[in-house]
Amino acid sequence: MIEVTLLGTGSPIPDPRRAGPSTLVRAGGQTLLVDCGRGVQQRMAAAGVGAAGLTALLLTHLHSDHIADLGDLLITRWVTTFTEQVPLTIIGPPGTAEVVDLTLKAFDRDIGYRIAHHADLTAPPAVEVHERTDGVVWDRDGVRILVAPTDHRPVAPTIAFRVEHHGASAVLAGDTVPCDSLDALAAGAGALVHTAIRRDLIESLPQQRFRDICDYHSSVEQAAATAARAGVGILVLTHYVPAIAPGTEDDWRALAASVFPRQIELGDDLHRVEVHPGVCVRPAG
Ligand SMILES: [Zn+2]
Ligand SMILES: [Zn+2]
Repeated sequence: MIEVTLLGTGSPIPDPRRAGPSTLVRAGGQTLLVDCGRGVQQRMAAAGVGAAGLTALLLTHLHSDHIADLGDLLITRWVTTFTEQVPLTIIGPPGTAEVVDLTLKAFDRDIGYRIAHHADLTAPPAVEVHERTDGVVWDRDGVRILVAPTDHRPVAPTIAFRVEHHGASAVLAGDTVPCDSLDALAAGAGALVHTAIRRDLIESLPQQRFRDICDYHSSVEQAAATAARAGVGILVLTHYVPAIAPGTEDDWRALAASVFPRQIELGDDLHRVEVHPGVCVRPAG
């Protein structure tokens, strides 16, 4: 079984009830964090996971809302690890190593203070960054992770992840418009976690800058169509733009259900979905 927890279902616009984009995936005793938006560690604490307990960090892309709390995560992991400091594996698109490096540079003074103060902290936070756009990026103790490119242009490159464990699988699409490479990665998956916007609501906003986001995001219906084409068992919507107004969850669900006839999950931060083997519907051909 793979357990997916929506840690943050928000977007770049601060929301009192929603943290920034981030999703926790637990499989085979491994704890994978996908993106690390604003407030991620408060939601991790609520889900019973500390920064020191992460197996790996997976980044779909380098937009600010998806990496807002990267520095906090790296520093917190470092100061709350009381055993040997094992490098944190970070898998992301090209550019990730530079962003991680510059983030650690921004905390250079903090890192210096702590090394000077604590005798058992002798080196800066350790990371091991892998920049990938496709293929198998992880195969350890029964958990396999594959990557494929997505289309979030002009933000590029961007990637989606597929986590597999004992016949169960979950795909984390990140921000993207529909594309063949995501369809292929998601084919036959147990669950597809997809970011979504309400095009019908955003297109009527007066500010062009808000309307611009329709260019490179999937609408609810487009995310659902991707799920339908790929024959996944469960569509999990997250990263709601605009934030789902209380009492309107069924409107979002109905838009997705008009295209995708199977299980649809959406909700608030900490919404949890279990993905069991065999829930997918294999696409024809
Ligand atoms: Zn983005
Ligand atoms: Zn985003």
